Amino acid sequence: MTFYKKIIDWLKKLFELEKYDFERIIFTKEVIEAIIELARMTSPNEFIAFLQGKVRKRTLRIHGLAYQEYFANENSTLAKINFPLTSSIVGSVHSHPGPSNKPSRADLHFFSKRGMVHLIIKKPYTEKDIQAYDAKGNKIMFEITPETS
Ligand SMILES: [Zn+2]
Repeated sequence: MTFYKKIIDWLKKLFELEKYDFERIIFTKEVIEAIIELARMTSPNEFIAFLQGKVRKRTLRIHGLAYQEYFANENSTLAKINFPLTSSIVGSVHSHPGPSNKPSRADLHFFSKRGMVHLIIKKPYTEKDIQAYDAKGNKIMFEITPETS
């Protein structure tokens, strides 16, 4: 084992990067409903919030929203936002007050900073208008569960 490999292994343990290994993403119905409500409330402006969750048995379960504040223009603000230092933050969600939920250049830059899953919700803000992306901006699937805990 090289010196660098040792350091990397140590860092992985320190930050529990192994927990980022998952096969399924499950959102609670409550979180999805809160996202839809926030998107509708803030429209025609954008909102951004952070997703709280954890990985257990190779499933990333998202059970909470850490809400920040309203932002009027995503292209000028998104890239500047830093993630809160809460350990349970696993990603982000923001709205597009328009017909596309594709990530912008600023979004992609932001996704790559930190987080495992990022949602974009477009108009008219229904469950079907939500698309999930990984840190590289690839589309990913998610499930919704009615259970809250
Ligand atoms: Zn965006």
